Amino acid sequence: MSTAILWFRQDLRLADNPALAEAVSQHQHVIPLYIHSNTDAGEWALSGASLWWLHHSLTALKHSLQSTGSDLLLDQGKVQQVLEEIVSKYKVNAIYWNRQYEPWAINRDKQLKEHFTQKGLEVKSFNAALINEPWTITTKTETPYRVFTPYWKNCLAAGIDRPLLDQPEKLPALPKGLTGASIETLKLLDPINWHAGFNDVWIPGEEGAHAALTEFLDGTVNDYDTGRDVPGTTGTSRLSAHLHFGEISPRQVIAAVRREQTSEADANRYISEIGWREFAHHLLFHYPHTIDQPLNSKFEHFPWRQDFDLDLARWQQGQTGIPLVDAGMRELWHTGWMHNRVRMVVASFLIKNLQVHWLEGARWFWDTLVDADLASNTMGWQWCAGSGADAAPYFRIFNPVTQGERFDGAGDYVRKWVPELAKMPKKFLHKPSEAPAEVLQEAGVVLDENYPSPMVDLKQSRQAALDAYKEIKELS
Ligand SMILES: Cc1cc2nc3c(=O)[nH]c(=O)nc-3n(C[C@H](O)[C@H](O)[C@H](O)COP(=O)(O)OP(=O)(O)OC[C@H]3O[C@@H](n4cnc5c(N)ncnc54)[C@H](O)[C@@H]3O)c2cc1C
Repeated sequence: MSTAILWFRQDLRLADNPALAEAVSQHQHVIPLYIHSNTDAGEWALSGASLWWLHHSLTALKHSLQSTGSDLLLDQGKVQQVLEEIVSKYKVNAIYWNRQYEPWAINRDKQLKEHFTQKGLEVKSFNAALINEPWTITTKTETPYRVFTPYWKNCLAAGIDRPLLDQPEKLPALPKGLTGASIETLKLLDPINWHAGFNDVWIPGEEGAHAALTEFLDGTVNDYDTGRDVPGTTGTSRLSAHLHFGEISPRQVIAAVRREQTSEADANRYISEIGWREFAHHLLFHYPHTIDQPLNSKFEHFPWRQDFDLDLARWQQGQTGIPLVDAGMRELWHTGWMHNRVRMVVASFLIKNLQVHWLEGARWFWDTLVDADLASNTMGWQWCAGSGADAAPYFRIFNPVTQGERFDGAGDYVRKWVPELAKMPKKFLHKPSEAPAEVLQEAGVVLDENYPSPMVDLKQSRQAALDAYKEIKELS
């Protein structure tokens, strides 16, 4: 009789889970295990909103495993120590896991593999999170890609449709006497229940992921190419947190989109967004220093502001006086998610109009996003700062007013998240400070009383950003 540990990490699902499929096919006993070990990741340890999601996702996984006859063993502490104890107590022969790509995880997993292999165990890892792992796609000269379009072209040429693995119907029971901590003992939920609103928006777990995918395929996908840019509607799939925690695989998502009778433009556009997620992992793997350093080294000399605390706080609280920015920051706080276009606008505002280092924004997103993902967050912020791969040039500065007028023309988004402005007419909704006194009065808006005036002049701060950029522009 042989026993394997299936170490769950960012692959909290039963279907299309290669490590699980292998463990079940090779061993009579399988111990599904999750270890909450939040110190390995340093500054990028799971935080606020992610921990909320994890709590619920693990609860869902535990239920699913129980319904197959097994259970999820929950533990916490140093990974090697936890594994060691279970290995010796239950005579474990093998440890299987699905790979992660964060630099800290790669180092830790390498050490664990060496350690347990030396002890005579079979240690195997698998790809469950990506279509193409970062080292499998290279340029003709075998270097990593830094530009998305040729990268994605190469991925498409290599093929992106992958066979799916079935969910095992029955799993062996846990060895006798093996019981783990209850989910509550992991203390993942912040006692200050700031995330109360998340419950109305999300259903973490594998079932929730498939429900979200079905909802997307039933409607939104058919207008994805244009609808994806409109923050006031549900124009996107909202699968990012499900994908991050591995409750659904990109292979499953692509296969489902392919099965739909949706237009080629919508399907290809959607699948290419999954491609951006892949590209983010490619960049993180090949340029791990970009988690806190610019990829474009010129930006090491950028004159970022040092005295930014108060301005950063206003941005975080959605009190900048720029309606689209405030709507985005409040959506983030209340739901743990923000629309992609608005993420770009709030990031541009922080980095350029306020000249605050992009890492400050990345850190806030890390704490508040349910989909916080080191690869995508790093790429997103470096893209907006102009310092990353295939990034928007620094001098292309979003104007949050015109962005609002263009993508939230009817104002549904701003009216929802900035209710102080709900009665403002369309014409001035995105620039209340320019509205005549009688318009403001009619809408019940008293600037600097119930809604702030813009914290910076957009034109002047844009120019200041361009002037700051001049200091590094000529550097090679
Ligand atoms: C500053 C900034 C920070 C970001 N931080 C994160 C983050 O921490 N985690 C995260 O998952 N995404 C991040 N993104 C990317 C993007 O905003 C989200 O993936 C997207 O909004 C999620 O919503 P959705 O699932 O409805 O996306 P959809 O439009 O339905 O796209 C489907 C999937 O494709 C992937 N995807 C879409 N756009 C991108 C993109 N630009 N980059 C990488 N993957 C993408 C996601 O996995 C997403 O779930 C960030 C973007 C910016 C500009």
